[in-house]
Amino acid sequence: MMIFCGNKILIRSGQYKFNDEDFSGLKLLMSSRELPEVWQKLPEWSDVREPLTLNDGERLIGLRDLWHLFGDKAFTEASGALQFATWFRNVRYCSHCGGKIFPRPNDFGRECETCGAVFYAPISPAVITAVERDGKLLLAHNSAWNDERYSVIAGFVEPGERLEEAVRREIMEEVSLTVRNIKYFGSQTWPFPNSLMLGFTAEYESGEIQPDGQEILKAGFFGADEIRKMNIPDEASIARKLIENFLARH
Ligand SMILES: [Zn+2]
Repeated sequence: MMIFCGNKILIRSGQYKFNDEDFSGLKLLMSSRELPEVWQKLPEWSDVREPLTLNDGERLIGLRDLWHLFGDKAFTEASGALQFATWFRNVRYCSHCGGKIFPRPNDFGRECETCGAVFYAPISPAVITAVERDGKLLLAHNSAWNDERYSVIAGFVEPGERLEEAVRREIMEEVSLTVRNIKYFGSQTWPFPNSLMLGFTAEYESGEIQPDGQEILKAGFFGADEIRKMNIPDEASIARKLIENFLARH
């Protein structure tokens, strides 16, 4: 059983999962144990009311910190559970008719008891791409970051768009370049709040870098030695894995 409070997870005595007796005193908003049987196949979670009074040896941490302490498997497991917990916390009524919704017994959806509409926990796919040109990697500084961090280009997939189209569109919008040879790299759940990051690699094709001036303020192609001295994303992220993949070959 994982215990969430807001967007944080409870850590106690070096553990992030607990037995029943460990959380008997907590005021629960909800627990996955209340859900129909099929839902019990998913990792168990409880959502507790804020603020949570912490005992000795307990702390609440974000999921990036969880990754640093427990690694990829724990991060992935907690990411899914937190997204379900957040969905149950935030969405309680049908968005069509305002009726009450209940968890379905045969899948991981919820259904309106009045109009029968079915809902699933939201997932927002985003593409993230490492673009190489002549042994250098495209990195950009996002205006939302208040440090000097640089990363690969990322953006949300729009409705009706194929992933390759999203890769081309984002790179064109943000830095005015065209790319070719787009290849799938890997994916990562990213619960901030509900992204699914889809990583790609690509080669520069044409154009001169022109940051869009809004989302991207600065961008350039950087060699491996330069990148090793730069402020780049946290190890928990697929952005970092894409950059490390480049560094390992250069
Ligand atoms: Zn309804």
